[in-house]
Amino acid sequence: MERRFSDIWKNEFRVFRYNRSEDDEKCRTCGNREYCGGGSCHTWDFEKKKQKLCIADI
Ligand code: SF4
Repeated sequence: MERRFSDIWKNEFRVFRYNRSEDDEKCRTCGNREYCGGGSCHTWDFEKKKQKLCIADI
């Protein structure tokens, strides 16, 4: 059975839409969060719930 795109979008891929920056204390209180959004998904440590690459530290 084929699924509708809207069904897949709403019910899958949540990890990409989830606001990870809420889980990282540094990001949660960061003044750049409005622009950065907690950084990239591919540099996020999902086990430790921390951003591994902070653009403010570059
Ligand atoms: S990754 Fe760095 S710059 Fe971005 S919100 Fe987190 S602490 Fe702020």
